[in-house]
Amino acid sequence: MNRMKGLVLEKPNTFEVRELPIPELEQGEVLVRVKGCSICGTDIRILEGKKTRGIRYPSVIGHEIAGVIVKTGGTVGDLKEGDRVGIIPVLSCHTCRYCLEGMENLCQNRKAIGYEFDGGFAEYLRVPADAVRYGHVFKLPDGMSFEEGALLEPLSCCFNGIQKAKLRVSDTCLIVGAGPIGLMHVQLARAVGVSKIIVSEPNTMRLELSKRFGADFCVDPTKENLIEVVNQTTGGLGVDTIIMAIGVPGIVNDLLKVVRKGGTLNLFAGFPDAGTCTVEANVIHYNEVTVNGTSSSTRLDYLKSASLVAQGSVRLQELVTHRFPLEQFKEAYALAKEGRGIKILIEP
Ligand SMILES: [Zn+2]
Ligand SMILES: [Zn+2]
Repeated sequence: MNRMKGLVLEKPNTFEVRELPIPELEQGEVLVRVKGCSICGTDIRILEGKKTRGIRYPSVIGHEIAGVIVKTGGTVGDLKEGDRVGIIPVLSCHTCRYCLEGMENLCQNRKAIGYEFDGGFAEYLRVPADAVRYGHVFKLPDGMSFEEGALLEPLSCCFNGIQKAKLRVSDTCLIVGAGPIGLMHVQLARAVGVSKIIVSEPNTMRLELSKRFGADFCVDPTKENLIEVVNQTTGGLGVDTIIMAIGVPGIVNDLLKVVRKGGTLNLFAGFPDAGTCTVEANVIHYNEVTVNGTSSSTRLDYLKSASLVAQGSVRLQELVTHRFPLEQFKEAYALAKEGRGIKILIEP
């Protein structure tokens, strides 16, 4: 048997589960039997053709991956068959200016598993030799499930976000959106030790979850005035930090008005198209507000995230609401698009 099943993306909006050859290994590579690959908002944008950078047609996508090593190609460090592993998908060049500055997530020559290399929506994943050599195959700690292992990737991006947002102990924080990313931010903010977490989210189930994960004030912005709630809870000062975990350009300007002077607004989520919006630049100017972004994560973010999960500071298991075999990818995709679940896992 040298065939496997994989989700083949032919072109935007055209994809199906099909038989593929199991990848052949070259020197320094490993073959992983995929046990879990979660669906990310970015995957949905790729499948719809809204994100095309780095995407090949046809190809296999999926970058939130955990599994078991079933084969090794020659020298692969201390990795061996039977190791339970998570995959750190973003490969950097180690030589460009950004890599030298420790910003490997922004590498000019960045390639990623699930983009330039085939990803995890398949029974088997070939991990390229460079990824093996530079430590992108992470051995899951004992007791960590494959589901948690798959979710380490999005968590590491949130870990990056929390640092870009410059959250400090005892700060106040507003998290906009309580999808999987917002809910990870709530948990990380709690782990940092902030004093107040306000979450804004119209979906009742997600708002309930954010309370369970440690939010102090939960606001449905369709029913309550978010600006008023922030002003009340911060004594009119505004919050120290806002993390935007949804990509709605139209609310950026309103949010700028509820950051305190000298505070930070982090644009974590990607925006549709160019994300064009109007902002009153004088609010940034006079209030000395920092507006920054978050993109992907480094290996260090991933390793630190893994230790937070291992020590119980972040609970990932509770974020997995649905599981589907690979054959039912289209059902999983439809559910993910509707936003009814939180994290949806494909178990090939
Ligand atoms: Zn992702
Ligand atoms: Zn680089």
